[in-house]
Amino acid sequence: MKQMKKVLGFSENITEEPIIYHLIADYGVRVNILRASIDPGKQGRMVVEIAGEDSQVSLGLNYLERTGVQAETLAEEIVHLTDRCTSCTSCVPHCPTRALDVDRNTWQVSFDPEKCIVCLSCIDVCIYKAMTLTGTLSEYFTNRQTAADDISA
Ligand code: SF4
Ligand code: SF4
Repeated sequence: MKQMKKVLGFSENITEEPIIYHLIADYGVRVNILRASIDPGKQGRMVVEIAGEDSQVSLGLNYLERTGVQAETLAEEIVHLTDRCTSCTSCVPHCPTRALDVDRNTWQVSFDPEKCIVCLSCIDVCIYKAMTLTGTLSEYFTNRQTAADDISA
């Protein structure tokens, strides 16, 4: 069994194609769409969790490549800026997957990117801008001024 999160990039000429349908129906890949920004005739992005037998996932990813979908690993898209984090714990109860958690001994808040589903709740909650969205996702899923923007400004 293989399970992974991917960021799928659709060029404007394929956003109306039933690609996800074929990925599920023809390759038996389980697809959980976590976030999507797709407009017909425009570029789109989708964050998905995909799962299936190793061969199903491999064949499914090959299919995506053949259709022109860019499939990138969801890594380091949400970043915990530890130098800004005060471990105030405000974000912890808002994190649906416990990607943000607090050590009950040290009261330090930690972030596990493997558990993150990019719901963006922490970005809304954190007044210190210690959680930020980076990479190609930021231009599709938020028009917020992020901490990364502040730093690069
Ligand atoms: S809300 Fe921000 S400052 Fe507070 S613990 Fe979470 S990331 Fe750190
Ligand atoms: S984006 Fe959502 S899932 Fe990821 S750390 Fe923030 S609150 Fe948790």
